[in-house]
Amino acid sequence: MEHTEESLNFIEQMIEDDIAAGKHGGRVLTRFPPEPNGYLHIGHAKSIVLNFGVAQKYGGKTNLRFDDTNPVTEDTEYVESIQNDIRWLGFDWEDRLFYASDYFDQIFGFALRLIDKGLAYVDDSSAEEIAALKGTPTHEGTDSPFRNRSIEENRQLFLEMRDGKHPEGSKVLRAKVDMASPNMLLRDPVIYRIKFAHHHRTADKWCIYPMYDFAHGQSDSIETITHSLCTLEFENHRPLYDWFIEQLGIFPSKQTEFARLNLNYTIMSKRKLLQLVNDNHVNGWDDPRMPTISGMRRRGYPPAAIRNFVKKVGVARRENVIDVGLLEFSVRQELNKTAPRVMAVLDPLKVVITNYPQDRVEWMHAENNPEDPEAGHRELPFSSELYIEQDDFMENPPKKYFRMFPGGMVRLKNAYIIQCDEVIKNEDGSIEQLNCTYIETSKSGEDTSGINVKGTIHWVSRAHALKVEARMYDRLFSHENPDHDKDQHFTAFLNPESLVVKPEIYVEPSLADALPGQSYQFMRKGYFCVDTDSTANKLVFNLTVNLRDNWGKS
Ligand code: ATP
Ligand code: MG
Repeated sequence: MEHTEESLNFIEQMIEDDIAAGKHGGRVLTRFPPEPNGYLHIGHAKSIVLNFGVAQKYGGKTNLRFDDTNPVTEDTEYVESIQNDIRWLGFDWEDRLFYASDYFDQIFGFALRLIDKGLAYVDDSSAEEIAALKGTPTHEGTDSPFRNRSIEENRQLFLEMRDGKHPEGSKVLRAKVDMASPNMLLRDPVIYRIKFAHHHRTADKWCIYPMYDFAHGQSDSIETITHSLCTLEFENHRPLYDWFIEQLGIFPSKQTEFARLNLNYTIMSKRKLLQLVNDNHVNGWDDPRMPTISGMRRRGYPPAAIRNFVKKVGVARRENVIDVGLLEFSVRQELNKTAPRVMAVLDPLKVVITNYPQDRVEWMHAENNPEDPEAGHRELPFSSELYIEQDDFMENPPKKYFRMFPGGMVRLKNAYIIQCDEVIKNEDGSIEQLNCTYIETSKSGEDTSGINVKGTIHWVSRAHALKVEARMYDRLFSHENPDHDKDQHFTAFLNPESLVVKPEIYVEPSLADALPGQSYQFMRKGYFCVDTDSTANKLVFNLTVNLRDNWGKS
């Protein structure tokens, strides 16, 4: 379902129709409405790209609104991280940052208006009693004994609730809609509850809070949102929102639902992500294995890769599961264009070039990025002692093995052709070093040797290389659907090898000044980025993504 320039998704089609019909004077105003009870994840990125993207496309604007109606789970740490992540993704709400809690006075007024119209009542029933009378989808509900309280009594009791005269759980305010509706959400939903809780913005001003369903749609109306885009699970809430709009006579924001993003090998419920953090299965919300925006940023995913991924997935009305490989593909595609190529040896094998002067250092000319003509060149030190990758050598190679083996020749990238003359072993039989000779006339760029070798391998000069740490990341879950098993907790499917630390790998010295967040291609190995844990004494690199999709292949 490739998203192309020409074909509109159903939301763009609807907006074009609305504009053509002159609805709201052609105005487009969307919003992204996160609840500040966790960090944003890749699913939110879909909603962000969609909301900001369509507004941009049709000359509109997008509000950022924190849906902060639940005082218990919300926190300013989340408020800040969410803003940070949206900006990093490349979107701007300018001066339109709002909080549903800013509207508590107006929403309270809406509740009074419903009471005065005889369309809301205070119910003294317990939560259990309310649930018991709700009925089932096939059986009508039963009226609460408090449903026919007078307007005056309802008004007085509701004001008393606000004034803290009634204990938590003793009363709620319900909308008087229809106890026989086939849509259970219309069976007199609770719209206000008593909660003696401190709110991160309104502090102790309120001891009653509107329910999400009585705040969300109303907030859209207050902001005069033209297109309220949300995920499919809110589809059957729409009739309720429309009922409120009609009864209150407020701005008719129109809700449209789209399918949420689901990714295999990935958990996206904030509750479960919080559990991974709290139970130390990961090292915080920004752990590079987390599907959070902050985790992906730390992992080295470029924001453009995330945006492109979301566009490739497209917007539809039908739920499906996207292969996380598509996200990794987008990351590779972006980094291939932008990441400088460098040499790094992850599992070192010492090579001594016996015919190269021990005190000599030659600076080899190396291209920074063949995909980017602007990227320029750098100089790489070459000397008589090098490291190559252990798996670029085989003592008993199969036929058509083009890397290093006893008696064989290979090209060192950006340097000379060398030949392996001798394998020196430790007492335990392991290989200590390879003794090699270099072909003096085979220098890269000025090769007159006439020798043709098939293999080219990477290397670093032993005396010049930097010792750094590499954190080799893999998927956090080893099952494609960590929630598949009713009897086993999703944490049972955590991949025990999702993080393997290599405390000492060797990288070329040009990386000495690399800064946290910078990305590189370690040639033939993968894309890596500098982690924020790096210190002046030791750089730490995160594996962002392998060069190829080798998942499931050995
Ligand atoms: P929870 O995980 O607690 O159910 P949520 O995912 O609904 O929370 P919100 O903060 O309410 O989190 O989400 C903000 C917006 O992001 C909502 O409009 C929601 O529809 C959208 N959103 C959340 N998850 C996804 C997803 N996987 N794909 C697309 N949009 C999403
Ligand atoms: Mg939500």
